[in-house]
Amino acid sequence: MDSALQATRLRAHQRRLWTFHGGLHLPDEKELSNGSPLVRASLPPHLVIPLRQHIGTAAKPVVAVGDRVRKGQLIAEAQGPISAPVHASSSGMVIAIEERPVPHASGLSAPCILVETDGEEAWAELPPPLDPKPDPRALRERIRWAGIVGLGGAAFPTSIKLSPTPDRPISTLILNGAECEPYITCDDRLMRDRPDRVLAGVRLLRDLLEVKECLIAVEDNKPEAIQALRQTLAETGDADRIEIVAIPTLYPSGGEKQLIRILTGQEVPSRGIPAQIGILCQNIATAAAIADAAFEGKPLISRVITLTGRALRQPRNLEVLVGTPIRELLAQAGGLGPRLRELLIGGPMMGFTCEDLEMPVTKGVNCLLALTPEESPDPGPALACIRCGACAQACPVTLLPQQLYWHARARDLDKVRAYNLFDCIECGCCAVVCPSHIPLVQYYRFAKAECLAEEQEKGQAEHARQRHEAKVARLERLEEERKANLRKKKEALTDKPAPARGAASPGAAGGGSGQSLSGAAETSKPDAAGPTPAVAPASQATGTAEEAKKAAIAAALKRAAEKKAALAQQGLGPKNTENLTPAQRRQVDAAEARRRELLATESVSAPQTLDPPPAQPGLVQVGEVGMTGSPPPPGARTAPLQSSREQP
Ligand code: SF4
Ligand code: SF4
Repeated sequence: MDSALQATRLRAHQRRLWTFHGGLHLPDEKELSNGSPLVRASLPPHLVIPLRQHIGTAAKPVVAVGDRVRKGQLIAEAQGPISAPVHASSSGMVIAIEERPVPHASGLSAPCILVETDGEEAWAELPPPLDPKPDPRALRERIRWAGIVGLGGAAFPTSIKLSPTPDRPISTLILNGAECEPYITCDDRLMRDRPDRVLAGVRLLRDLLEVKECLIAVEDNKPEAIQALRQTLAETGDADRIEIVAIPTLYPSGGEKQLIRILTGQEVPSRGIPAQIGILCQNIATAAAIADAAFEGKPLISRVITLTGRALRQPRNLEVLVGTPIRELLAQAGGLGPRLRELLIGGPMMGFTCEDLEMPVTKGVNCLLALTPEESPDPGPALACIRCGACAQACPVTLLPQQLYWHARARDLDKVRAYNLFDCIECGCCAVVCPSHIPLVQYYRFAKAECLAEEQEKGQAEHARQRHEAKVARLERLEEERKANLRKKKEALTDKPAPARGAASPGAAGGGSGQSLSGAAETSKPDAAGPTPAVAPASQATGTAEEAKKAAIAAALKRAAEKKAALAQQGLGPKNTENLTPAQRRQVDAAEARRRELLATESVSAPQTLDPPPAQPGLVQVGEVGMTGSPPPPGARTAPLQSSREQP
C-alpha cells in the first residue's frame, strides 16, 4: 500500500507542467471556510426549484399545483437536445408553478416549481444500482435521467458532454479539482471528506470514455485534499490508471482551457472545445454526482456550497438541497453580520450580486460570499483608460482587453467579435489590475449579450426570409400547375376531331353522348382516299369543337328529360308542395279549390271537342308568342299570359 502511495507521489513529481499567459496570485482566503467538515443543511419549509438550472432549454413541468411529490421524483422533464430534467429535492406538495427571481447575472425571473415540504423526506422509487462496470449506454442514460450538469459553474448537461462523436475520440480525461477562485472551498471539502465517492465517479468516467490517460488536477494550496485522494487511490489499487497532479496556485488555473494548457501544453482552438484536441474536462463534484446516480440511483437534488466571507458569522460548507432559499442557508451559517457590504453568488472574481434573499440555490451555485467593506472596498468612479496595458498582461487568454473595452463601449459588435470577445472567460483579471477601475468585465458581458441578441434577430430574420421564399415558390408552382392543367384541357378540346357536317345528332344516333361523340370522332378520321392535314385550320377546329359541345349538351338535356318523365310516371317526380308550413298548406289548398272550381265551370260552358278553337283574326295565340317570338300585328290584342299563381 505504501509503495503504491509512493508511486503516485513520484509520478506526480515527475510530470511536466506548462504555464499559461497572465493570471494573478490572489490572497486565497480559503481558511475562512475549509476548517470544518461537510454538514447537511436542514430542510427548509419550502423549496423553489427552477425549471432551468442548466445551459439549454428549460425543463417542462410534469406535475400540477396540488400534486404530492416524493423526494427524487421527476417534476420536470428535459425538452430538446440540450436540456436536463429536474427532480423534487424533498417530499411535499406542489403549491405553485410561477416566475420567481433566480440566481443569474441578468437578475431576471424564471419559471419555478414551489414545493411545500412535509418534513418526511419520503423517497420516490429509485432505479436499481448499476454494475461496477456498467454498460456505457446504460450509464449515459442514468446520467441523463439524473439531470446531472457540470457542477463547476458552467451547468452544461453532462450526458451530452460524455457523448463524443466517433470522429473525435477522447484520449485524456481531466478531473478539475483546482478550485482556483479565492474563498471557495466546496470542492476542497468534498475531496477531503468524500474521496471514495469522487474516485468512484472518476473510475466510471474513465471506463466510459476508454481514455488512455486520466488526471485529477488539484491546486497545491489544498494538500489535505491531495493526500486524501492519493490515500484512497492507493487503497483501491487504481494508482497506476488515475494520476493526481498538484498544480501551482495561480488564478485562473481552474479555467478549462488554462488547465489543459498546464497539464498537456496543448491549446484549445479559439471558440473551440477541448474535445477537438481529444481532451474532456469534468469537475470533481460532477464525478461524485455521477457515482451517486449510478450506484445509489439518486438524481441530482443537492450539492455542496461554500458560505463564506467576513460578513458571515459562521463560514462553512454545507450540502444543500437544490431549491433552498438563500435566506434559509444564511441563517444556518449564523446569519449576516452588521458589516455586510455586498453579498455575492459565486466567488469574488466571477460572482454577481445577490439582489433577493428569496432566490433559491441551483445546481450551478457553488458559493455565497458575504463581504465586508475591507474585503470589497469601493473602487470609486471609473476613470479614463490610460493605455497602460496592464489588462493585456494579466489576461490568461491573451486577448486585448483595452481594445475590447473601447469597441464594447462604442457598441461596435463586429469589432468585438474580431477581437475574439467570445474567448473571454470573464475571469476578471483585467479589471482587478486596471488602475482606472474600469469595470471591464461588465462591458464584456454587455457586449456578449448584444452580440447574442443580434445573432438571434438575424436568425429570426433569416428564418422569416426562408419562409417567405418558400411561400412564393409554392405559389408560383401552384400557378404553373394551374396553367399547365388549363393548357392541357384546351389542347384536349382543340385536338378532338370535329364531327362531320351533317353527322347524326346525339339524339338521332339513339345512344348517349359518349356514343354520339365517338361517332363524331369516327367521322373525322383521316380519309384513306386523300391526305388530311395533320392540324386543321384554327377556325375549323373551333367550329367542330363548338358543335361537339352543343351535341353533348343536347344529349344531356334529352337524358335529363327522359329521366324526369320516367320518374313522373312512377309518381316519384319532384314536388314543390312537400314540407310546407301550415300557412303555406292552407294557401295551396285554397288555390287548388279555386282551380277545381274554374275547371268545373269551363267544362260546363266549353264545347265538347278536343280540337283547338279556330284562330280568331287579330288575336295572337299564346304558343305563338312564346315559341316563335314573332311580333303581333300592329293594333292586335294579345291574350294575357297568366300562371296558376297569378290567377285570382
Ligand atoms: S488596464 Fe485599464 S487603464 Fe490600463 S490599458 Fe487596460 S483598460 Fe486601460
Ligand atoms: S475577463 Fe476576459 S479579457 Fe479580462 S482578463 Fe479575463 S479573459 Fe481576459
